[in-house]
Amino acid sequence: MPTFTARSVFPVSGPPLARGTVTVEGDRITAVLPHGLRTADADFGNAALIPGLVNAHTHLDLSAARGAVPPTPADQFTDWLRAVVTFRRQSTTPVADAVRSGIAESLRCGTTLLGDISSDGGSLDLLAVSPLRAVVFREVIGLRRDRFAMTWGKYRHWRDATADRPGTKRGVSPHAPYSTSYYGYRFLTTVPPHFAAASHVAELPGEADFLATKAGPIRDFLESIGALDPFVKTVSSLRMALNTLGTVPHGLVVHGNYLTPEHVAGFTPSMTLVVCPRTHAAFGHAPHPWPAFAAAGVRVAVGTDSLASNPDLDVLAEIRLLRRTNPDAPGSQLLRMATLSGAEALGFADVCGSLDAGKSADFVAVPLPDADGDPHELLLGDDCGARRVFFRGVEVT
Ligand SMILES: [Zn+2]
Repeated sequence: MPTFTARSVFPVSGPPLARGTVTVEGDRITAVLPHGLRTADADFGNAALIPGLVNAHTHLDLSAARGAVPPTPADQFTDWLRAVVTFRRQSTTPVADAVRSGIAESLRCGTTLLGDISSDGGSLDLLAVSPLRAVVFREVIGLRRDRFAMTWGKYRHWRDATADRPGTKRGVSPHAPYSTSYYGYRFLTTVPPHFAAASHVAELPGEADFLATKAGPIRDFLESIGALDPFVKTVSSLRMALNTLGTVPHGLVVHGNYLTPEHVAGFTPSMTLVVCPRTHAAFGHAPHPWPAFAAAGVRVAVGTDSLASNPDLDVLAEIRLLRRTNPDAPGSQLLRMATLSGAEALGFADVCGSLDAGKSADFVAVPLPDADGDPHELLLGDDCGARRVFFRGVEVT
């Protein structure tokens, strides 16, 4: 029954504990205590002991794309989309190899739970045998009836031919309101009752206008790739997309770069806004509205998005950027977004996401600088070296 200590222990469900202790029995945490109540067997020294990080949004099947499709300015986003489509067609890296390398990188960064958008659902088997937890969202995409019917049919076949595994659950992902038929959102009412759903919503400038008018640069792009026909039907507004995501037990609204305060009312307690800060910055989008959503009580989590738009899969680097762009946000709020809020978003909060007795012993020792200071601010400062990552009480890096 080992007991661990470090300079700062962050339960996340409560305030940091200076030289606190975490006691583990088997794969579970049995006690998290202030300093002085229990003798430690292992000391991580000048480090922060935090829950395993949660990456609420990534695409592991794009893990071979690092640096291959550089983000464009936001108003040329469709050029980037075109480049990603071309990359997927031309990449010689087997998808399974990309997924494996994304899993390995996630673990090195301290991620022990992630939400993975999977084009073919193939990451399910690989994640099920990996030392982390996941929700695999099978992607559905297509505006034209024939294309949508094909991807929805493949999703249904995958749903019926596979099963959830211990620590690995399944979900569905209508790609985006501008790329996926109205029925991809309407049919969310038909997914199995335990399924989660995630969708890229309000990611692009002009997205709301396109949904209302079916005109503008997004239409031009869709026509150029043959994605439109006279019968195409999309959801008619961002609010309608939000409403459909509110029909599943866990609805993830990814990006939300161009949501406005009126959309707050579209979020139910089962829904989460998932922001991807470094990807948002790479495209030069307008300042993100997430602080107003958080202030209004909407759950906000973070993701890395894929290596097609992000330099790495480090969730801690995402909230370190938010520390710089949102200096008024409390450090405790940012750390929660990268841990417990992500676990709540993905339906794993009863298992992980915080250091509490009864939860899985998933935690990360993050080296800290030698300086004095507020514990959260030290954690959210510069990176100080390799992390040690534990999953179910076993060191995995
Ligand atoms: Zn994405």
